[in-house]
Amino acid sequence: VGNELKKQIGLSTVTKDGFEVSLSANIGTPRDVDMVLENDAEGIGLFRSEFIFMNRELSPTEDEQFEEYKEVLSRMNNKPVIIRTLDIGGDKNVPYIDIPKEMNPFLGYRAIRLCLGNIDVFRTQLRAILRASIYGNVKIMFPMISTMKELKDAKKILEEAKLELKKEGKSFRDNIEIGIMIEIPSAAIISDMLAREVDFFSIGTNDLIQYTLAVDRMNSKLSHLYSQYHPALLRLIKSIIENAHKAGIWVGMCGEAAGDPKLIPVFLGMGLDEFSMNAPSVLKSRYIIRGLKKKEMEQVAANTLNLENAVEVEDYLSCLFADEN
Ligand code: PEP
Ligand code: MG
Repeated sequence: VGNELKKQIGLSTVTKDGFEVSLSANIGTPRDVDMVLENDAEGIGLFRSEFIFMNRELSPTEDEQFEEYKEVLSRMNNKPVIIRTLDIGGDKNVPYIDIPKEMNPFLGYRAIRLCLGNIDVFRTQLRAILRASIYGNVKIMFPMISTMKELKDAKKILEEAKLELKKEGKSFRDNIEIGIMIEIPSAAIISDMLAREVDFFSIGTNDLIQYTLAVDRMNSKLSHLYSQYHPALLRLIKSIIENAHKAGIWVGMCGEAAGDPKLIPVFLGMGLDEFSMNAPSVLKSRYIIRGLKKKEMEQVAANTLNLENAVEVEDYLSCLFADEN
């Protein structure tokens, strides 16, 4: 941590005109909590739980998972921790779940789709998270939701898991917030309806870009088209935030774009409530946000939405925020 940035430790993440946001970090394993604490993140906005499932022969048991979740929650000392349920498939596979060879794995049997097809795996994970919930401030998030039915089905299995635990006399917190990732265009478009069913959204720009722009995020030949500055993406993000707020829920972002110094002002202007990023970006992002006025960023966001393409957007923001980059 650089000296100038060290001064940001302990400060709140608030704009010059008094608008406060949450600044969180993304993690893959309990080991990453060190970095989260070192960089003074206010919570964990995305715990990619699939890393517990990878590089092993058999599925982790409920107790094994429980220990991992408990460790993260205890170490975070009541700060919010969003555990994302298993997001396997796409580019991430495990030997003990049968994923048939697919023509388009990123459009295939992945994440919540796979969990709803392997209910035992899903239920085991939910039970482990619920049991760990008494050790901290956990929130549960479902990845790759594309329909209302998927969300309702996932919530039903969660309720069943709670009932089971109750019957077994095992304790868990009662008021756990439930959220979904908005990372598929269909979810963004029906976000007004999805918002009625959850406590929060987290925008997953990594996937939202690839699905909105029809550009495979792993294809280096197309990297010039894979842009977080595309006006289509920014317009979509604006409508997600508006729909969330109309329904009275909060909305964060846990894709890479959330830590982009050029885009932070834009998302701030749009009213994003939480930014979650790689831990090393946290203090710089706090520094940036503390130097901005929300009211002014509303105008910047509006201007951005009227530019014609990603290059114009990036140039506009580079000029405005040259100091930060
Ligand atoms: C995303 O898609 O933006 C995201 C945060 O999830 P992942 O990168 O794990 O797919
Ligand atoms: Mg994703």
